[in-house]
Amino acid sequence: MKVWINNKLVDESDAKISVFDHGLLYGDGVFEGIRVYDGNVFELEAHIRRLYKSAKVIRLEMSITKEELIKAVEETVKANEVINGYIRLIATRGIGTLGLNPLICKNSSLIIIADSIQLYPEELYEKGMKVISATTVRSHPLSLPPQVKSLNYLNNIMAKIEALDSNVPEAIMYNTQGFVAEATGDNVFMVKNGVVYTPPIQAGTLEGITRNIVIRLAKEEGIPAAESNLTRFDLYVCDELFLTGTAAEVIGVIEIDGRVIGDGKPGAITRKLRKKFFDYVHGRN
Ligand code: PMP
Repeated sequence: MKVWINNKLVDESDAKISVFDHGLLYGDGVFEGIRVYDGNVFELEAHIRRLYKSAKVIRLEMSITKEELIKAVEETVKANEVINGYIRLIATRGIGTLGLNPLICKNSSLIIIADSIQLYPEELYEKGMKVISATTVRSHPLSLPPQVKSLNYLNNIMAKIEALDSNVPEAIMYNTQGFVAEATGDNVFMVKNGVVYTPPIQAGTLEGITRNIVIRLAKEEGIPAAESNLTRFDLYVCDELFLTGTAAEVIGVIEIDGRVIGDGKPGAITRKLRKKFFDYVHGRN
């Protein structure tokens, strides 16, 4: 595999960063995960816009322009002959000292990996997944805004550990006010009386690119979709629950904290939106 690192494509075995890189020492950096469908990089510009926004918020100066990055991504995908796969873009603060000070890191690093991904087994998409509510609260917007896709995912990882300890693959995270924020790496949607609801960004979620597409596809299908603060109670009594994300795509949730959702199978609207999403990513609508 060829990896793009600091302006050139190198063999995977030569793609290395310094142990003094603050991305490693402090999780000081930002990233994106992007799908490749049928040889096309899906929503590349939206991902790159979000990456540069994340970088701006943490005061990380990107080493190349958005246009140059788009070209570099396309080059990396081509060099690895990726047709259906997954790209990871990583911008780290760069090499510094053992102190926190980011300002002494002169050059941020940029890494592009084009590989494949399967997040969950296919069976889970058909049967739906069980989740729990995490006790770990999603970061307060005044600590690290959840809109920043930073290299420091420990908040989410703490919640993921709770899920895995409970033998389920995912956890729902709530904000400091008790409203639903997101899952550990996905956005949350629920359906009640034919209306699709998802928390507003201000509830403490990443502005998911899949989320935004699913909202649009729902509306195009004539399914009302609204952003609304949701509580744990709302999730317990909803008709359908599903998660969206670049890696997870659209996946139904059939149980939360031991409460069965609907009839215990991915619901009709979830299945419809999952199909619409597939048609969309493969250019069929
Ligand atoms: N929330 C979090 C915390 C995420 O890491 C992600 C991306 N994996 C998402 C939501 C979904 O965002 P997107 O649809 O842009 O992948």
